[in-house]
Amino acid sequence: MTARVLVVDDVLHNVKLLEAKLRSEYFDVLTAMNGMDALEIVEQEKPDIVLLDVMMPGMDGFEVCRRIKSNPTVAHIPIIMVTALDQPKDRVMGLEAGADDFLTKPIQDLPLFARVRSLVRLKVLMDELRIRNSTGQAFSGGGEVQNISSISLNGADVLLIEDYDRVASRIIGYLEDTIGSIDLDNVKDGKISTGELGKYDLFIVSLSLREADGLRLCSSIRSSEATRHTPILVIVDDGDHETLIQAMELGVTDYVNRPIDGNELVARVKSQIRHKRYADYLRGKMQQNMQMAVTDAVTNLYNRHFLDTHLENVFSPANEKQANLSMLMLDIDHFKKVNDTYGHTSGDEVLEEFSKRITSNIRSIDLAARYGGEEFIVVMPETDSDFALFIAERLRKTICDEPFVISGSEKPIDVTVSIGVSIVSEGCETKEKLFAQADKALYRAKETGRNRVCGITCLNDEKAS
Ligand code: GH3
Ligand code: MG
Ligand code: MG
Repeated sequence: MTARVLVVDDVLHNVKLLEAKLRSEYFDVLTAMNGMDALEIVEQEKPDIVLLDVMMPGMDGFEVCRRIKSNPTVAHIPIIMVTALDQPKDRVMGLEAGADDFLTKPIQDLPLFARVRSLVRLKVLMDELRIRNSTGQAFSGGGEVQNISSISLNGADVLLIEDYDRVASRIIGYLEDTIGSIDLDNVKDGKISTGELGKYDLFIVSLSLREADGLRLCSSIRSSEATRHTPILVIVDDGDHETLIQAMELGVTDYVNRPIDGNELVARVKSQIRHKRYADYLRGKMQQNMQMAVTDAVTNLYNRHFLDTHLENVFSPANEKQANLSMLMLDIDHFKKVNDTYGHTSGDEVLEEFSKRITSNIRSIDLAARYGGEEFIVVMPETDSDFALFIAERLRKTICDEPFVISGSEKPIDVTVSIGVSIVSEGCETKEKLFAQADKALYRAKETGRNRVCGITCLNDEKAS
């Protein structure tokens, strides 16, 4: 995994040292020696990650961090603050300023590469989600992506996996004020006994358990469907590099060293939960966008694009299911008059109510779509002509029997519909022919007086009075 790293430090020696270390691991390196230059490079070059020194004359690292994180075009770029070892408060201040992580000087290789890789991995995922979301937004128009630092920690659920009671209660003590509920699992019989792991926002796993192999537990959390995306923060003995490397390779998201610094733990836990919630938010948004791309906003039915794609699949040579497929083409009668009399908004309400009546009168295997303004299609698999005509007739009655009550008009509105029915049969085996046949039948229904169903045989029902 390669990435572009911006190194910011006012001491040339420090810049050169970090540059050399990162180059040796094949990272691309950009450098800046003061805050103003750093901001300019971030804006112009959009690096994948920033290593930011805290103590710099003029604008210090905290200020640089704050400015990057409050600029929506670059706020997603992860920042690692570089702090002095004798200033433990700086670490927490950095995370509070919006930094994603921190390292202490003198910088050691292992934590450096572990933190950079973990954040770059996270950024790759977030970038992908962000791109898909902006495409979705262009498609459906609207919605703003939330900022990570503004994400609330309310109601966060954390599971602590630790089998030393004393250590566990100390950790819970640190976190109590920040996190509402912390559940403890003391790995009886070497296994996680807590149920419903999918609800947690974070797992804190001790890697010095008596009863179980912590790394194995991390691996099972990572590979299970419900917890694949949940962050894991491990607690590892200071200096136990081998275990830490293994943990990072398993996809553990963050770590703290034992003995635990309470402030650092709190800051890391907050940051992990916020990242998790941001990713959840992006994923949810994406699903919503996908839903919006295939449905019609006024009626909530599938749109024409979805219907076309669906029928392409149904009629693909690989599929033999199209036998006995029926199609209804519905067109509201004199709908222009509804608009002219009651206004466009009332017209929309009629379309909404119309769609509700259709969907509640078809089976769940049937598919209803809005094909055009006041034209609708219902596709019914495994349906012969008698049954299709029967359903069409039932839909017609559903519409005309009960006038439409809408907020825009005191008087209920009489609505009727004409329906053309077509069925896959000899000479009508393609999607295009099915449409043409339905269209022809609909035309006949309109021509012969509206409020009626026409198909292979035209049902000459009386018009509703
Ligand atoms: P016919 O019985 O021959 O179908 O007559 P009609 O008036 O229903 O058909 P026509 O095609 O002349 O007019 C359709 C009308 O549907 C015109 C258009 O303004 C209206 N319409 C199309 N889409 C919408 C919409 O989303 N909302 C509203 N309110 N009206 C729409
Ligand atoms: Mg400095
Ligand atoms: Mg019409």
